[in-house]
Amino acid sequence: MIAKSPIVKHLVLIGGGHSHLAVLKHLGMHPVPGLAVTLISRDINVPYSGLLPGFISGTYDTKEISIDLRPLAQFAKARIIQADIKNIDLNDKKLILPNRPNIPFDLLSINIGSEPNLNMIPGAQDHAIGIKPLPAFLELWPQLLQRTISTLTQKEQFKFAIVGGGPASVELAFSIHHRIKNDLNLTGAEKSNLQIQIISAEKTLLQFHNNRVRSFAAKELTTRNIDILLEKKMSACEKGTIICEDETEIAADAIICATGASLPSWPAKCGLAISQDGFIEVDSFLKSTSHDYVFAAGDAATIKGEIRPKSGVYAVRQGLPLAKNLIKHATNKRLKKYKPQTHALALMSMGNKTAIASRNKFFMHGRIVWLVKDRIDINFVKKYSNFPQMDNNLGLEKGLVDNKTQQLLESHAMRCAGCGAKVANSVLQDVLHQLPNTEKQEILTNFSSAEDAALIQLGDNKVLLQSVDQIKAFINDPWVFARIATNHCLSDIYAMGCKPHSALAIVGLPFASKEYSQSELRQLMLSCSETLQEQNCSLIGGHSAESEDLTFGLSVNGFTTEDEVLCKNGMQKDDVLILTKPLGSGTLLAADMRSKASHSNIQGALNAMAISNQEASSILVKLKATACTDITGFGLAGHLLEMLAKDRIEVSINLDDIPIMDGAVNSLKQGIFSSLHEDNRTVSSYISGRSNLSKMPKYEILFDPQTSGGLLASISSELAEICVNQLIGAGYQSTRIIGRVLCSNTEEPKIIIE
Ligand SMILES: Cc1cc2nc3c(=O)[nH]c(=O)nc-3n(C[C@H](O)[C@H](O)[C@H](O)COP(=O)(O)OP(=O)(O)OC[C@H]3O[C@@H](n4cnc5c(N)ncnc54)[C@H](O)[C@@H]3O)c2cc1C
Repeated sequence: MIAKSPIVKHLVLIGGGHSHLAVLKHLGMHPVPGLAVTLISRDINVPYSGLLPGFISGTYDTKEISIDLRPLAQFAKARIIQADIKNIDLNDKKLILPNRPNIPFDLLSINIGSEPNLNMIPGAQDHAIGIKPLPAFLELWPQLLQRTISTLTQKEQFKFAIVGGGPASVELAFSIHHRIKNDLNLTGAEKSNLQIQIISAEKTLLQFHNNRVRSFAAKELTTRNIDILLEKKMSACEKGTIICEDETEIAADAIICATGASLPSWPAKCGLAISQDGFIEVDSFLKSTSHDYVFAAGDAATIKGEIRPKSGVYAVRQGLPLAKNLIKHATNKRLKKYKPQTHALALMSMGNKTAIASRNKFFMHGRIVWLVKDRIDINFVKKYSNFPQMDNNLGLEKGLVDNKTQQLLESHAMRCAGCGAKVANSVLQDVLHQLPNTEKQEILTNFSSAEDAALIQLGDNKVLLQSVDQIKAFINDPWVFARIATNHCLSDIYAMGCKPHSALAIVGLPFASKEYSQSELRQLMLSCSETLQEQNCSLIGGHSAESEDLTFGLSVNGFTTEDEVLCKNGMQKDDVLILTKPLGSGTLLAADMRSKASHSNIQGALNAMAISNQEASSILVKLKATACTDITGFGLAGHLLEMLAKDRIEVSINLDDIPIMDGAVNSLKQGIFSSLHEDNRTVSSYISGRSNLSKMPKYEILFDPQTSGGLLASISSELAEICVNQLIGAGYQSTRIIGRVLCSNTEEPKIIIE
């Protein structure tokens, strides 16, 4: 019986703008069974523009002003892909993505914001900085600030020219001024060399605001010696110079463009109707006036007959109506009209923890206004960074188990995927040892040899290696998952020092509409065959079946000679232990499932998992490693013990030398463990060291199950340095010597923590 609803429609959201934040949160709170959701965004860590001036003035740090889309997408059970969309095939309902297969959709929503159009001004791309995209500006700002300070320290003038006469320019000018004037390392004389000029094509500053707001802002800017130059339209830009339409030239050390919002050209090129003011034209349902299955919101869209200034307030307000209309459209219900408010409240920061409030004729300024702005903006970031714990209902019939058992089962209801979903070693060994088997002379391995692949003699010293592995998808992107799963499955062959020759695939595909299944399978198999091709391994067949979760595996063949095979046992006294990839994927993927992992940490983990062990294996064979295995589900401790068991070897390990993925220790400290972790910990009776060992923050990493983990090998100490250098040179940047072999033939295998 398949318990999950089949996927029958696919909603794709382009852009992680303000409106889509609300859409994702709404879908997380009110899932729509049968609807798959994909978010594609150029930026995954999105700074909130309302807090940007506070970041520039030094009130907030980057983390405080950013929303990480990954946990939000996880909460919404949405697939997240980082990509800059530039093309949509609206007829075939497909998104054209660079470097991966196209993505079909049934329903599309666009919330890509707006940007000052630097393309239109010759030289601006090279010699001016756009305030948007915000992530790019945020990355540039520390260097710009440093350049400003070092110029001022040399008692020279530094001039900022801020192009544009709207709230963004005004806020920027106030914030930069405040930041420099409060720099404790600069003397008063040095600070007085700072010049800031606002340059606007309009007749007045803040043209969409009332007179009291305009004159107060102008007065405050003047008090701070911030110059306002009106009716000057930038027509070109050269290094350090703005050229205006009237041919005036304005010199500046930094030119920042915060000019009017514009839409990139690609939505129009794709055939979407464009409004009078140059944005995607939508009706009062937020649906494109040209395409029934496309919605748009935020700065990128204009509601026909309802032109408003581009401001985040409108984008935020459109979020919930957009979410509801997307769901209504997907479920064939009547859409609901949305009318934007006529005026929006603008709260403009003045850098010094005071702010100006402006709405139609309303004006207010001061500390209280800033406190309100601070509260609204910080709460907005929190709203999309913290999520309610969703129900872990097991769906068990009442009375089947007692309350205690029910609670215990619920606490484990979130089962890990990848190698965290392996059957526990203890369960496996119990069963395997009881199995009757037909021994054959040419089969060199058996269940108890615990090798990574089976060895079958072919004669003439030749051997055939065969392995099989299958994992459950730990990420809902089949393209990324298949690359990692393929490398994971090939790894058993590499761990034995051999090259893969051919493979058969096993796919478990969840029940879905024919079109959706086809697209999923295409992405999965293209990614697998691309990865196999890179490693000269042929795909020679396979089998697919319907399953509750997406699973993928390979049975791999490899040929080699008997004397070239690397085995788990064979370590020699004084050998060093080398690990080629960082640990931590188990806990990080478990955190990701709980919407508690950051994009950068998960991306780091996925990048490490996507690295093939091919090159590492060749290097270890060439340098005559004495033993080797790959680290997967049983964690470093479990796999190391397998290597030590036969010869009863004692090794020492230094926890500080173990390479660990960013964020993994922190995740373990929060008590986030992969499902298999607890069972992996049973080998701790073979581990000894300091008395407070189990309290050491890195201790738990020994039991963390890995998916597509690195190779762990022993090698003579004389070759250790060469080996590490070669591995690092081959791209295994995290390679470390983590320990050494103390002695063999002891009473029992032992891992001593230094
Ligand atoms: C300095 C500054 C301060 C501001 N302060 C305020 C304020 O206090 N209040 C206010 O209401 N407004 C403010 N604004 C205006 C506000 O920033 C915008 O109106 C608002 O961000 C628009 O939101 P949005 O949802 O349309 O898109 P955005 O918030 O701009 O989000 C667009 C998203 O789309 C993604 N994206 C873009 N192109 C693509 C693509 N081709 N493919 C995939 N993804 C893509 C981006 O990565 C981003 O995640 C300020 C602007 C600036 C510059």
